[in-house]
Amino acid sequence: MSTSSTPLTPALNEYITTAFSAEDDFLRSLNDEAVAEGIPPISIAPEQTAFLQVLLRAISATTVLEIGSLAGYSAIAMARVLPEDGNLYACEFEPIHAEFIRKKVDQAGLSKIISVVEGAALDTIPGILASSPELDVVFIDADKQNYPNYFELVFPHIRSGGLIIGDNALAWGQVHMPDPDSEADNVKALRAFNDLLQNHPDIQSTLVPLGDGMVVGIKR
Ligand code: SAM
Repeated sequence: MSTSSTPLTPALNEYITTAFSAEDDFLRSLNDEAVAEGIPPISIAPEQTAFLQVLLRAISATTVLEIGSLAGYSAIAMARVLPEDGNLYACEFEPIHAEFIRKKVDQAGLSKIISVVEGAALDTIPGILASSPELDVVFIDADKQNYPNYFELVFPHIRSGGLIIGDNALAWGQVHMPDPDSEADNVKALRAFNDLLQNHPDIQSTLVPLGDGMVVGIKR
């Protein structure tokens, strides 16, 4: 029996997406409406919704910080598996995106759980931490060059056994390239973030190739 990996072909990825997505009609139409309103189609992939939900349930998460929320797709997917008294802070820089998220959170009946925090996350996170000093999960999916800065800010506040998750860990398929041909600075920043989680003495990490890849670290 072989111990080698199975390369993820488009057909296999399609199988995973079809079998293991937590995307329902609400989330599907949320993305369609967002695009119709001029919001770019850059949410996580459907198969990543179920993965995030499994992670949150696995550690009985109640307090989640999301950095980069776009139209609310991943925030709503995660909030759906939080308890009634759970909190998810959705940090979003663009006012138009934040307004759209508020509308969708309301329609989803999740206003008690999701707080949309508008502004540059480096400016808004300290206020969030003042009211919620202990976090179960931080999901980073915003400006790539700031991933290490977000890490520095939030890591002391993640509880032991809590998770730090970064999206785009495969950097659009270029993470392994010494000289990426596009978005070079972002690719280098994402690689540096993977290295940070891989080498940190207080973290055990893994990289899961769903969507554009997610690096997941658990705080020891
Ligand atoms: N997590 C979202 C999802 O899967 O549904 C997708 C997030 S999208 C890839 C990145 C978002 O981060 C954009 O909406 C962008 O406006 C936001 N963003 C970029 N820089 C930011 C910053 N400094 N602070 C907060 N949000 C930021």
